[in-house]
Amino acid sequence: MNMKICVLAGDGIGQEIMVQAEKVMNKVCDQYQHDLEISYGLIGGAAIDQTGVPLPEETISTCSDVDAILLGAVGGPKWDDIDKSIRPEKGLLGIRKEFDLFANLRPAILFPELKQASLLRPDIVSNGIDLLVVRELTSGVYFGEPRGEEIRNGRRVAFNTMIYSEDEVRRVARVAFDAARKRSSKVCSVDKANVLDVSQLWREVVIEVAGEYPDVELSHLYVDNAAMQLVRDPSMFDVIVTSNLFGDILSDEAAVITGSLGMLPSASMGDKKPALYEPIHGSAPDIAGKDLANPLATILSVAMMLKHSFSLDAEAEIVEAAVKNVLAQGYRTGDIMSSGMKQVGCQEMGDLVVQAIQG
Ligand code: NAD
Repeated sequence: MNMKICVLAGDGIGQEIMVQAEKVMNKVCDQYQHDLEISYGLIGGAAIDQTGVPLPEETISTCSDVDAILLGAVGGPKWDDIDKSIRPEKGLLGIRKEFDLFANLRPAILFPELKQASLLRPDIVSNGIDLLVVRELTSGVYFGEPRGEEIRNGRRVAFNTMIYSEDEVRRVARVAFDAARKRSSKVCSVDKANVLDVSQLWREVVIEVAGEYPDVELSHLYVDNAAMQLVRDPSMFDVIVTSNLFGDILSDEAAVITGSLGMLPSASMGDKKPALYEPIHGSAPDIAGKDLANPLATILSVAMMLKHSFSLDAEAEIVEAAVKNVLAQGYRTGDIMSSGMKQVGCQEMGDLVVQAIQG
């Protein structure tokens, strides 16, 4: 297969984790005879330094020509006081908007080897955690109009609009049902249909879409209940599909209960290519350039890319198995270190995963 990828390393640890991800991509492509064509672009603070803006036109045009984008992280103290309109994070929002990446896939996985890292009681995580939050990313209350602040009756008021069209719900629901088919075939749709009109439409449309997927089991939870169930019994979930606001909160909750920020990948996708793959953590300026970063979230993002952008499920599983294998051998970066384990740096962790990738 011919794979065209654009690497946007970004800032902070973005640079060093991306080197490890590239090593893994090259190894997989060598081993399975895929042609890998990598281009590079600037984003975030690195782009501001060189071009004055966080998402240069050149980056957009390079990305327009590829199947998938692999992104490191953006931001850092150097750009904290910069004009709001060109902050590094604008690069991320801009790229999602440019390619209409409306579905954000955030797996929360607790590897058995890292059970002690979970914030939950051992009896609660005895079944492990392996769920996927599919969050609508480009609509809902974060983008709805009208929005703003004004004076009414002499007082300041501020308002936003939570709005979804049926098409927006339908397309993200389909992403969730498709993803469920590659997992345990269960979708839980999270809303607040007891209070919000927008959630009532959300629920109606999700039920309509479920008719296209008779092999997938659909359930519904109100968002307050879903937040509780996530910490009470995360093993009850397979795929959660929800709106932008609820997904923002639930995906972070699901991530934090695993206890390992450096282990979690994500994907953002639209109807067309390119899709975007990135670790969920930030640029970790406190450890940047010290060979301390955990590259596994980025390497697992490569696995998601192989699966979702290229339908190379076997290759994706081989990368995931290599990560598990390295953890099972007791190797840990500092962020997931525990007693009795062998601490390694970012580069060595990348090398170990490459070695563990077997045919
Ligand atoms: P962060 O995720 O960068 O770091 C939080 C903590 O986790 C830090 O102590 C860091 O050292 C540690 N950490 C994160 N990733 C790690 C890894 N792979 N290996 C080992 N340790 C890791 O979040 P923050 O400190 O709130 O933000 C730092 C910068 O990153 C800010 O400028 C923020 O805006 C930006 N940020 C970017 C993204 C993104 O690019 N998607 C996401 C979140 C934050």
